[in-house]
Amino acid sequence: MYVRYAVQRWSRILENYRAPYDATAVRRMKEKGAIVVGKTNLDEFGMGSTTEGSAFQVTLNPWDLSRVPGGSSGGSAAAVSARQCVVSLGSDTGGSVRQPASFCGVVGLKPTYGRVSRFGLMAYASSLDVIGCFGTSVADTGMLLHAISGHDRYDATSSKREVPDFTTQFTSANLVESRPLKGLRVGLIRETLDDGVDNGVKSAISGAASHLEELGCTVTEVSLPSFSLGLPAYYILASSESSSNLSRYDGVRYGKQAVADELNLLYGDSRAKGFGPEVKMRILMGTYALSAGYYDAYYKRAQQVRTLIQRSFKAALDANDILISPAAPSAAYKIGEKKNDPLAMYAGDIMTVNVNLAGLPALVLPCGFVEEGPAGLPVGFQMIGAAFDEAKLLKVGHIFE
Ligand code: GLN
Repeated sequence: MYVRYAVQRWSRILENYRAPYDATAVRRMKEKGAIVVGKTNLDEFGMGSTTEGSAFQVTLNPWDLSRVPGGSSGGSAAAVSARQCVVSLGSDTGGSVRQPASFCGVVGLKPTYGRVSRFGLMAYASSLDVIGCFGTSVADTGMLLHAISGHDRYDATSSKREVPDFTTQFTSANLVESRPLKGLRVGLIRETLDDGVDNGVKSAISGAASHLEELGCTVTEVSLPSFSLGLPAYYILASSESSSNLSRYDGVRYGKQAVADELNLLYGDSRAKGFGPEVKMRILMGTYALSAGYYDAYYKRAQQVRTLIQRSFKAALDANDILISPAAPSAAYKIGEKKNDPLAMYAGDIMTVNVNLAGLPALVLPCGFVEEGPAGLPVGFQMIGAAFDEAKLLKVGHIFE
């Protein structure tokens, strides 16, 4: 197994830092016999969608080396896509497992918030962060989830709920003829097929919906009216939480330390030299949104939007067993294309961030190709389930693939 240790976060501020212990997820994998073959690249502190924000390198997409693998956990997705390993770990705060899975043509799973311990994961935005899984198949991805799930006394946010056996949904054969998913209610989220979505992605998603119908599902359109509010709410909340979480990197406790003869200068200089530009921008945005006078207009408002989004998912999942959408509005784009246009990059997270705001599980599976690049580029679709119902997503995903 290939593990992306989520401890280093590819930042200069953690250069030469060696974690003194394994994250719980990594420890649990090792206890089950996993062989860790390396660490993978990602955007600094998980802030980004391409790995171009890594302080050290850019990961290339194995389908077309001139394109990004997605991000932030792009290195983990690319490693599985290039078959350097069968499974890997990533973290998903706003889509960092699902969007790279889509760009690299592999399976990506974001578990329910609280399903997997985050002990040992460097915090980005604590109310959103989860550790997720990549795999070459749904069965392998389920096996990895099973290995790492469950309560951990070192993480008070990890759930005490019983962990079902995520490895048992794969015993029966993939029998298309018998319509194995008969009666399953699938809601296609209308707002995810708006104008901003590439035509190639739209046709791959309608292909996936037809395939689900062939397998016995009833597919109907469902509306999530607050869907488009997810993006601004996410960026306000994630930046606010990160501005607080990242205050621990002061040059004293971890990693890189500037030379200065006064404590405030040491803090300031270590942070100025240690953090990259995107991280600094997020800290500034977050500090602004949290400051007295702006708090009500931004942070509080974003929390209210979050509640609306949670409610609309609840209503949609009361009427449907699962919801489906694209995993990203386009296939993998060229390296450099959005690097200097943060808003365009943020807009690419529209399909995934709502799921983090609602804390729900979601599985991304390859469902087609667009005709670009030397060999075509993969497109993934996202299945969203009710909280703690990963088993259903894995079952449907396995029958689908
Ligand atoms: N691209 C999003 C961001 O930059 C999501 C990243 C993530 O899930 N870590 O915040």
